Amino acid sequence: MTIVGLTGGIGSGKTTVANFFEDLRVPVYFADIEAKKLMNRSKVLQRKIKALFGEEAYVNNELNRPYLASKIFNNENLLQKMNAIVHPKVGKHFDRWVKNQNAPYVIKEAAVIFENDSYKNYDFIITVVADKKARMKRILKRDLTTQQKIKAIMKNQWVDSKKVRLSDFVINNKSFENTREQVDSIHRKLLNLSN
Ligand code: ATP
Repeated sequence: MTIVGLTGGIGSGKTTVANFFEDLRVPVYFADIEAKKLMNRSKVLQRKIKALFGEEAYVNNELNRPYLASKIFNNENLLQKMNAIVHPKVGKHFDRWVKNQNAPYVIKEAAVIFENDSYKNYDFIITVVADKKARMKRILKRDLTTQQKIKAIMKNQWVDSKKVRLSDFVINNKSFENTREQVDSIHRKLLNLSN
């Protein structure tokens, strides 16, 4: 099975692109969503996360995300420790998911692929890019957040040019229509490459 990674900076349009691939019946695994589900569901993860962050990490068995975000923010060491707990579990869950798919290739959508070196685990990588101003505007329209918060997240992510150099495909997400065309074209190439 060919494994394709799909990534991009905050608000670049990863989910939008992933949904376009789903429209072409490509199975997509949304790593960040699955990670959050596993952090709620898995007793082992709960125990380890509580050991790292304290009992307040969960409220009524639900991950206390604002608390965790405040702890992790600007604390690279804690972030790395949390990733070391969560990533292997998501990795195993993904491997099981892959075994249940019947398609020439599958996509794993994840915000972080380059930053944590996991790009080596993929056969191909697609990076979605969009200019910072457009991303900012789109996120502000979608989320209840501030420019300052978005900028802080952007600062912690690799710049697009660095990701582009290591990618097999790049989608420049300007208009929905044009992005769908780029997805169609990459899909055709991936079908050929997967055979
Ligand atoms: P995040 O990193 O926050 O998870 P993302 O990379 O998954 O974001 P999307 O959620 O796909 O990005 O897109 C961000 C927002 O921008 C969404 O509300 C989406 O509908 C909108 N959007 C995506 N692409 C375009 C586009 N080409 N034109 C206008 N709006 C867009």
